Amino acid sequence: MSRISPTISFDAPGKHFGFLRLPYSTHESAYGWIPIPIICVAGAAGPTVLLIAGNHGDEYEGQIALGELCRTLDPADLHGRVIILPAANYPAAMAGRRVSPIDGGNLNRSFPGNEAGSPTEMIAHFIETRLLPMSDCAIDLHSGGSSLQYCPTIRARANPDPEIMARTLTFLRAFGASYGCIFKPLAGENRTMAAAAARCDIPYLCIEIGGGGSVGREYLSMMSAGVRRILIASGVLKGELDLQDETRILSVDGFDNYVYASESGLFEPLAELGELIAAGQPAARIHFPDTPWREPASVTFQTTGRVLCRRFPSLTKRGDCLYEVGAEA
Ligand code: ZN
Repeated sequence: MSRISPTISFDAPGKHFGFLRLPYSTHESAYGWIPIPIICVAGAAGPTVLLIAGNHGDEYEGQIALGELCRTLDPADLHGRVIILPAANYPAAMAGRRVSPIDGGNLNRSFPGNEAGSPTEMIAHFIETRLLPMSDCAIDLHSGGSSLQYCPTIRARANPDPEIMARTLTFLRAFGASYGCIFKPLAGENRTMAAAAARCDIPYLCIEIGGGGSVGREYLSMMSAGVRRILIASGVLKGELDLQDETRILSVDGFDNYVYASESGLFEPLAELGELIAAGQPAARIHFPDTPWREPASVTFQTTGRVLCRRFPSLTKRGDCLYEVGAEA
């Protein structure tokens, strides 16, 4: 049982706007609740697609794209149901932060959540126990946030079930990004929404577009068009699938696909987004403005592949992720 209660019905046909009421009793508001916006658009009988943005509050294209989608989606055009959660970690989204300012919770590291936990844990619990089980597919819209920048990539967690993997790949290609990435969870990570969807046996896709704590116009239209194509591919939205570009499938299998800062200092990138790089190639130099006579430290790529994302701010600390590399098949 969740302590979160929706103000809308998920079973009624038509378009319904409302909130998930998350009880949150504070000094300022003794009986108050956190209003997490939710929209359900239901047409004729058919499958359910769950669309989420604001999983991380500082990733904006998805939040804007889902706002636009919920205003324009017509139930008459649907064979099925679309549930839209555009600001999933609402306190984080309102603060423009990756994590919630209330409890420090990173929603995408909080699954399966806890019905009696912090607000972020309660949201994760509601998504995993209520929204995912009523969905046939979940799409989670991200960007690189404040600390990373991504070239448009659609990502799926490797799933051992061939039927789920085949459906996942259909949606992945329908999105129309240049790169698709099949990833294995690092160190058995099971707190993500990808892991939650796998536990619920449904296809899950995570879109990574742009970042740097801002919104790119081109990225925004890519996000909106790609989500609509997935809705068409799922059979929920009427329409023709107009696929222009072939999506190149890359893989991220482990820590070698990442480059981390070996020292703290100023990050000078030596590779660009989308660039094809080779193992052993210099990835970055880290400069030391506190001891400028010291030679900068060199960091190299550990694997051959395509640069999918890079750190956005220059100031870096040892352990920060500088790049992610997708290996080409
Ligand atoms: Zn994110």
